[in-house]
Amino acid sequence: MVRQVLILLGAPGAGKGTQAVRLADALSLPHVSTGDLFRENLSQGTALGEKAKGYMDSGALVPDELVVDMLFDRVGRDDCGGGYLLDGFPRTVAQAEALGSRLGADDRVRVIDIEVPDSAIVERITGRLSCGSCGAVYHRTFNPPAAEGSCDRCGGALSQRADDSAEVVEKRLAAYHEQTAPVAGWYRERVGIQTVDGTQSPDEVFSACRACAEEVAS
Ligand code: AMP
Repeated sequence: MVRQVLILLGAPGAGKGTQAVRLADALSLPHVSTGDLFRENLSQGTALGEKAKGYMDSGALVPDELVVDMLFDRVGRDDCGGGYLLDGFPRTVAQAEALGSRLGADDRVRVIDIEVPDSAIVERITGRLSCGSCGAVYHRTFNPPAAEGSCDRCGGALSQRADDSAEVVEKRLAAYHEQTAPVAGWYRERVGIQTVDGTQSPDEVFSACRACAEEVAS
């Protein structure tokens, strides 16, 4: 069975999470976000969550071996048998290599890079609100929920992530440029990537991402 592995790349705040929720619905793929998996581990007080916390709080990447084991465990579950959508993974070339070594000839890897200039990122991230239940993402000014503090999709409580503060954003952006930006080049050379202008409206970015996912999957 052909398995579609759709990878969303982009800086923190580029809109990966927002688009991943919608694309996963539209394409009927499970949404696998390594950031969400770490936050779940943190809220459940697991040993993995404890290990990841210091890195996340400071805006650094969690070491590859912790991320890769957690990711492989997640994508090894039954619901990922027909494919999955990756949000926030891979974030280093070593992670991309690890994923590559796990995939088989039947897996169709598609990579979409959502591009947003650094100048827009800080405002986006510091105004961001996330649903603790379904992962939907809002923005206080650009994409507010219909009812303050509550998710339009599921009614869950909205809150600001601890690492979405102005101080931590700069460090996350630095980690992105040093460690994650090279991942796009790595895929460009191997499977090709599609780029989408992430400064458009959320609906326009969604349409462009969906067109990329469907075009390359046909
Ligand atoms: P995110 O929700 O994708 O912005 O991720 C939040 C934080 O989780 C990041 O700033 C990292 O500390 C950590 N994290 C998530 N995914 C990864 C990954 N693939 N590699 C390393 N760290 C990650």
